[in-house]
Amino acid sequence: MHFHVITLFPEVCRVYTDASILGRAQKTEKGKGAKQRGKKIAISYYNPREFSRDKHKKTDDRPYGGGPGMVMHAEPILRAYEKAVGRKKNQKKVKVLIMSPRGTLFTNAHAKKLAEKYDDLVLISGRYEGIDSRVKKILKAEEVSVGEYVLTGGELPALSIIDAVARKVPGVLGTFESLEEERVSSGEMYTRPEVLEYKKKKHKVPPVFLSGNHAAIEEYRKQNGV
Ligand code: SAH
Repeated sequence: MHFHVITLFPEVCRVYTDASILGRAQKTEKGKGAKQRGKKIAISYYNPREFSRDKHKKTDDRPYGGGPGMVMHAEPILRAYEKAVGRKKNQKKVKVLIMSPRGTLFTNAHAKKLAEKYDDLVLISGRYEGIDSRVKKILKAEEVSVGEYVLTGGELPALSIIDAVARKVPGVLGTFESLEEERVSSGEMYTRPEVLEYKKKKHKVPPVFLSGNHAAIEEYRKQNGV
């Protein structure tokens, strides 16, 4: 899976995607079989500013019809898109998502479907009031929201989507983590120390977790709804 992120703030996003599991998934690993060694995902960034033909590298302008704020120009975004996936022969394997608080709510089911169906995912991140609506039409893009709240930009939504989709790409999670993913959420969990002292009070790990009896732990979780 190749993620292509169109954003005015690539450096902000890169710090996140280079860390931990996503960072590891973009590298080849030593040892193990050939399949496990290869790169599982690639992430590329495109800054509309670099695709602007304006002499001041402007990427936004006042909205037609008035109203507050600025609207992002279509052309630099379209050129960034061309650079990212324009030459791909099989456009059926390319999906374009525009980050928008008005879009369809993104879920784990979407993440799974995207990981299974596509080879290239283009994520367009807005700023200011949003993006010229012609981008959506021209690229046959889908607008997606990550929650019923409004953020100042599409970077966090794009990162959330990359993260959720990458978890569904085979080999990105280790075996143990994959098992966790099967359960979606692992609920109540503990690690050392067995007795945690905080402000003179002792907090113990529930004994069942120390038993090593996985069936009993599952039963505990079920009964306690955790
Ligand atoms: N007034 C605009 C809000 C723009 S928010 C409106 O009502 O649509 C600026 C940018 O942040 C958007 O273009 C979008 O890319 C991103 N954004 C903000 N909240 C978001 C959310 N919940 N989900 C996805 N993208 C969001």
